[in-house]
Amino acid sequence: MTAPLIEAVVDLGALEKNIAHLRRTVAPADLMVVVKADAYGHGRVPVARQAVAGGIRAIGALDVDTALELRAAGIGDDVTVLAWLYPPGQDFGEAIARRIDLGVSSLPELRSITDAAQRLAASEVFVPPHLHLKLDTGLHRNGATAADWPALVAAAVDAERAGLVRTFAAWTHIAEASEDDDTLALERFLDGVSVARELGASIEVRHLAASSAGLRRADVRLDMVRMGGHCWGIPSFDGVTPAEIGLTPVMTLRAQVLAVRELGDERAEAYVSAGYGDGVPRNVAGSCCVAVRGVQHPITRVERDHLVIAVAPGTEPAPGDIAVLFGTGADGEQTVRQWGDLSGTLGDEITTRIAARVPRRYLAP
Ligand SMILES: *Cc1c(COP(=O)(O)O)cnc(C)c1O
Repeated sequence: MTAPLIEAVVDLGALEKNIAHLRRTVAPADLMVVVKADAYGHGRVPVARQAVAGGIRAIGALDVDTALELRAAGIGDDVTVLAWLYPPGQDFGEAIARRIDLGVSSLPELRSITDAAQRLAASEVFVPPHLHLKLDTGLHRNGATAADWPALVAAAVDAERAGLVRTFAAWTHIAEASEDDDTLALERFLDGVSVARELGASIEVRHLAASSAGLRRADVRLDMVRMGGHCWGIPSFDGVTPAEIGLTPVMTLRAQVLAVRELGDERAEAYVSAGYGDGVPRNVAGSCCVAVRGVQHPITRVERDHLVIAVAPGTEPAPGDIAVLFGTGADGEQTVRQWGDLSGTLGDEITTRIAARVPRRYLAP
């Protein structure tokens, strides 16, 4: 079999270990694995299946279509699948029928959900959807403002009494930018939970933290922590390697060395079959390296179908060698977090943008 020009190797064993480590760390809080953006390029269905096999009972999907796709792929009703971002006019009927948990930020959203629930309530199999009522605590991404919160909760409680929904959870998204901001957001959130409970909402689950604060601070974990980046072994705070926080990068991007060209004066360059058409950012040229046979070579150009590396005398790769763009670091390569730092973006962004046409090869645990 001919080796592919480029491939993203996704190590499900590393994913399993990362998730087990993160679960232990946040316990007794639960861990929700967030698989939005195709699990940041790692593949939402294989990642969700591996997470569930590893004991995870909550998956964050972002949108209803992704949530339904996960159900169709066999993620069963014993696993919470949460959607929270909707286009205007979202039809919630199928989501309710497939027992998707629904984030709710506003009265119009709540009305769309209760309308759909009303239509389904006549059927024998109707189960009221679990709502996750979202409060904005300062990030202004979505969520009800403190001023709108009591009316949203009261309307949800009314709908619960009518048998249409369950006021299952309260949540927010904290900025994870500064400790003080996060502390303030936590206080606002706990106040919001008290208000909701006084209004008659049950709120069995409270969640607000993602990878960064969820790993660093015990006080923000509450009942559940939602993590994406750390599950794939990409540190989401500065100054640490994945290993230092107990994680292993899950994706390794590999491509073939196509040709080596002598430039004179003992200088040479090599062509590697990974370009911006594959999602390799152009600005890794001049900032990042690629490893071949354990030796790092600086990237000098990124073209559409290939990139060019400078090779020092005596270290010339041969055509057919495998170049490791980023990975665990075990074979001398940089990690994607290093790529992000060196090229002025996030490791998350780099894996997320690796093109869909780059084949993913899954290593079983
Ligand atoms: C993306 C997202 C997360 C996960 O963020 P990470 O920093 O990758 O852990 C958690 N919660 C919500 C609401 C998100 O949108």
